[in-house]
This record gives sequence, C-alpha cells and structure tokens, in this order.
Amino acid sequence: MHKITDIFQHKKRTYSLELFPAKTEQGHQKLLTTIEELCRLKPDFISCTYGAGGGSRQRTFEIVQHIEQTHRVTGLAHLTCVLHTKTELKNILEDIKSRGIRNILALRGDTPGDHPDWQPTEENFKYSSELCAFIRANFNGYFGIGVAGFPEGHVLCPDRELDAQYLKTKIDNGGDFVITQLFFDNKDYFEYVTRLRNIGVTARIIPGILPITNYQNLKKFCGLCGAGIPDKVKKIFEPIENDLDATAHAGIQFAIQQCRELLEGGAPGLHFYCLNKLSPTDEILSTIRNT
Ligand SMILES: Cc1cc2nc3c(=O)[nH]c(=O)nc-3n(C[C@H](O)[C@H](O)[C@H](O)COP(=O)(O)OP(=O)(O)OC[C@H]3O[C@@H](n4cnc5c(N)ncnc54)[C@H](O)[C@@H]3O)c2cc1C
Repeated sequence: MHKITDIFQHKKRTYSLELFPAKTEQGHQKLLTTIEELCRLKPDFISCTYGAGGGSRQRTFEIVQHIEQTHRVTGLAHLTCVLHTKTELKNILEDIKSRGIRNILALRGDTPGDHPDWQPTEENFKYSSELCAFIRANFNGYFGIGVAGFPEGHVLCPDRELDAQYLKTKIDNGGDFVITQLFFDNKDYFEYVTRLRNIGVTARIIPGILPITNYQNLKKFCGLCGAGIPDKVKKIFEPIENDLDATAHAGIQFAIQQCRELLEGGAPGLHFYCLNKLSPTDEILSTIRNT
C-alpha cells in the first residue's frame, strides 16, 4: 500500500480516521463491521492506536493489515516506545514491515497504570524522536513516519516554545508529518503552526478533531491529556451535558464549524478521532467535503 507521503504528492488535503483496538473478541468483530462502514467514506488513511490509555497492543497491526488488504485503504500503525526495549522495537518494526504496512506513527506513549514505576534505561528509548531516528537508520526509507504534535504544548512540557523545539527534533530525526492532539480553539492550532514554521518545520501539520458526543466524558479525557476546554465550548455544552441527543447535535454543528475554519485557514486536512463509531464523523465529513 501507499506511503502517506506519496498521497501528499497529489492531495492538497487528506481526510483520515483514527481507531483503537477493541478489548474483547466480540468488540473486535463489531470493529471489523465499523471499519467496513468507515472505509465507504473513502478516507485517505486510517490509523490504529497502540496501547493508548492502557488499551490493547496485541491487535494494532492485525487491524491495520486488515484495513489495507481487505479494504485497500492506506493504514497508519501507531507504535510507542514505553515498556519496549530497542531490540523488541526492531522486531516489532520487522513484523510491521512483513505485513506490508508502510506507515508508522512514532510515539513515546505514557507509562501505563499497571507499570507505574517503569523508567526507561539504556535499553529503551526515552523520547519518540529517538524512535524516529531508529526507524530512519534501520529501515532505509521503507516507512513513512508520522509524529504527535500538541497545539497547546504537551501536558508535561511547561513551555510551548521548548515543546515546539522537541517537535522539530522529531522531524529532523525522520518524521514526515504531524498529527495533532485534539483541541477546540483553532487559535491554538494556527499559533502552533506559526511557531513551528518560524523554527523551520515545513512538514504537514494535520489537526486532530474530536467530535463532542458526551461532554462529561470529554471533561475527564481533557483532564488527562491536558487539552483545554475553552469558554465557548463550556457555554454550549454545559447546559445540555445530561442530554446526549442535544449534545450529539451540538457536537456535529461545533465540529463542522471548527473544521471549516481550519480548512479555510490552510490546514492540510483533518484527522478524526472517531472512537470506533461511524456517527457522527460520517455526517461531519460529508458536510465538509460537500461545501
Ligand atoms: C495523534 C496522537 C496519537 C497518539 N496515539 C497514541 C497511541 O497509539 N498510544 C499511546 O499510548 N499514546 C498515544 N498518544 C499519546 C502520546 O503517546 C502521549 O501524549 C505521550 O505523553 C507523548 O508522546 P510523544 O510521542 O509526543 O512523546 P515525545 O515526543 O517523546 O515527548 C514526550 C514529552 O517529552 C518532552 N520531550 C521530548 N523530547 C525531549 C528532550 N529531548 N528532552 C526533554 N524533554 C523532551 C516533550 O515536550 C513531551 O513533554 C497519541 C497522541 C497523539 C497526539
């Protein structure tokens, strides 16, 4: 299948989706059906997370391989450094390559709750920039490499300028493109792009979009990942937080508006955190594409 960088050669904008592996066999079977529906939306690529939030690592590559081989849609396999030695990562990358997968989202990951005391040693990579360099050095351009970006700065990095410098290191070490953490204030995204362009980062910075469907869950998630909830979002969603239908409707309207502004402002596409569901991403995407 294609490297995502090849898709960039002929597409000014890409529309992509993100999934996570299910925890049970029943959930996995349901996910395969959802993948079939999502592929009918003709995304440019679909990514699958690796152990995010303590979730499963086992099925990420099987899912990406399935997306590519069964549906002929380009896949992007997330891979994290935490809990893996360099030797293990080399073997995992060989496995990914043997499956024909050509795109990796190179991440550090977070120390999982069930290994709270884990610390990287000489055997491990401390930062995702080291994984980027490792992939570049060992796989001779076979993989296209994406990296994570944080428009509001990473939660553990107190300084946005410094965080931008670390992002630049990932690109200098082999990263080809950036997918951002979710955000709700487009100003944060545009300022981030400016910050990165000013220090010489020319890679595509694809905004990550989370359609709001459940405001109470959103508050918890933003608390964990450090994404801010701006007043304009609070004003819309707080009064209806116990009404899921009203929240879903308002969430679609908010996401459409957010996506339109981003594309009008020059964003090179949209990456949807669709949470393994067809709706509401299908509605948002078709509205965006048709206007
Ligand atoms: C699009 C996207 C997809 C994701 N998918 C997954 C997933 O599948 N699985 C999962 O577990 N998690 C996932 N995450 C979460 C991610 O792993 C965490 O946010 C993690 O804390 C940071 O990962 P990173 O790759 O950006 O780390 P890094 O780039 O290594 O940065 C981690 C921290 O270290 C700082 N830093 C970087 N380099 C240096 C340096 N040289 N010296 C000092 N400090 C430095 C950074 O500012 C940051 O605070 C995803 C995040 C995004 C945005």
